[in-house]
Amino acid sequence: MSDLSKLAASLHLPDEPLRTPMFIDGKDHTGSSAEWVTRKSPGHGVGVTATLRASAGDLDAAVAAARRAFDDGRWSRLSGEQRATVLLKAARLIRDNVETLAYLETLESGKPIGQSRGEVTAAAGIWEYAAGLARVVHGDSHDTLGPDMLGLVLRQPVGVVGIVTPWNFPFFILSERLPFALAAGCTVVVKPAELTSTTTLKLAALLTEAGLPDGVVNVVTGLGSVVGQALAEHMDVDMISFTGSTQVGRAVLAAAGGNMKKVGLELGGKNPQIVFADADLDDAADAIAFGIAFNAGQCCVSGSRLVVHRSVEAELVERIRAVLARVRTGDPLDASNHVGAIVEARQFDKIRGFIDAGTRDGAQLVCGGDTRSEGERFFIQPTVFRNVQPGSALAQDEIFGPVLSVMPFDSFDEAIGLANGVPYGLAASIWTRDLQGAFKSLRDVQAGRIWVNCTITGGPEMPIGGFKQSGIGRETGRYGVEEYTEIKSVHVQLGKRPRWIA
Ligand code: NAP
Ligand code: MG
Repeated sequence: MSDLSKLAASLHLPDEPLRTPMFIDGKDHTGSSAEWVTRKSPGHGVGVTATLRASAGDLDAAVAAARRAFDDGRWSRLSGEQRATVLLKAARLIRDNVETLAYLETLESGKPIGQSRGEVTAAAGIWEYAAGLARVVHGDSHDTLGPDMLGLVLRQPVGVVGIVTPWNFPFFILSERLPFALAAGCTVVVKPAELTSTTTLKLAALLTEAGLPDGVVNVVTGLGSVVGQALAEHMDVDMISFTGSTQVGRAVLAAAGGNMKKVGLELGGKNPQIVFADADLDDAADAIAFGIAFNAGQCCVSGSRLVVHRSVEAELVERIRAVLARVRTGDPLDASNHVGAIVEARQFDKIRGFIDAGTRDGAQLVCGGDTRSEGERFFIQPTVFRNVQPGSALAQDEIFGPVLSVMPFDSFDEAIGLANGVPYGLAASIWTRDLQGAFKSLRDVQAGRIWVNCTITGGPEMPIGGFKQSGIGRETGRYGVEEYTEIKSVHVQLGKRPRWIA
């Protein structure tokens, strides 16, 4: 990556799109019929990268490579210590390449460069954590089955895993899944979102440099409707780990039925910020502004609904408005901007549609609402609506943009009812100084992740995942490696087996 690292250090745009082929069986793969697709930076409107749009044939080649690599044991039968060594080297190489990976991530996703650097650095930490788990993952034993019987529970790698990732945190989300699958001993085919495939491809090359055997990680690029769908359907794939929208997650779940593959789904959210009357409103205002503006609201755990006690609603909304007034939105390569670009025209139009509908449905625009598409650059000012009806699209649908909907409550039960009154259950934040109230609400709120007096924070120790239509299964923490295992229970007869026919 040496020319590339010079370019990344300069933070200039490339003269022409940087091409990266697919990665199958330890080698670059261009495929026979795959075409190059140029990605324009959504923050700059010019072509910056190019990746291949694969055919179903390319996917078959990748699955076959992963299958061979799993079945011959070149990775699955190594010791945990050997696997951990490779994962730690991978983490080291990620740290050595933070600038380049962050630069590519910003070019493709439109997020501010400082944020990309933070994400890639944090991702390296996840690889380090998962390396430890390669030596920790274990089964169980039962020595209580009587004098002649010993029970063993083995945890074995599930096999070939397909990982499909979205465009909002391409490198980070991949790092919340891939090192855990590898720690468990699985082999993998990754299908990144076509808009943001390059850092995944670069990572695959780094893994080879770290000593990962050929065929253990393969990357196929292209359209979700073609290669993603084929991966979810594939009869030689044992598990599909999908991160993306609830709508596509439902299709993946159906596709997985063909061979009853194991399914992990991390889907959408419509996450409440629940603010009680006794909360520290300054703390809450800053965090709520961050929770809706971070990654331009294109974040599965965005706090997109403010459920606030009526007595402090006006005061809190004013403080949030004041914080957002200081947020700078613009060129993601300019480190002084807090918010970068919206990922693409389709997403930009979708968010604008919600802002227009909000105004039509009688919600009151507090701030923002400003949308700019200069050439093919897309920016949206963080937007806040009050008087949002709980049943309206603004309150119910995942917008995936910097749009906050405010809904007041009068009683504790009403707060919980509003918080839980959506089909999603991904994350929630609770703001209060009352310990009892906090504990009572964190029991009642239906969400896989709850933050008390904080938001969007955490590390790889803690599991992530969703209740209700936000998903199935958990990633990271010890649960993250167990997710990629299959359990085998073994009865070992110690004495003589009693005869059926004596
Ligand atoms: P998406 O449209 O569902 O796409 C996600 C991935 O699935 C992409 O790689 C996409 O490929 C692929 N895909 C599309 N159709 C497919 C199919 N029929 N079969 C298999 N794969 C298919 O989601 P997105 O727009 O990229 O991301 C936004 C969504 O992801 C939001 O709903 C967000 O909440 C969710 N998300 C959830 C989490 C979580 O941890 N719960 C984290 C991040 C994001 P192409 O796009 O390349 O065609
Ligand atoms: Mg999409």
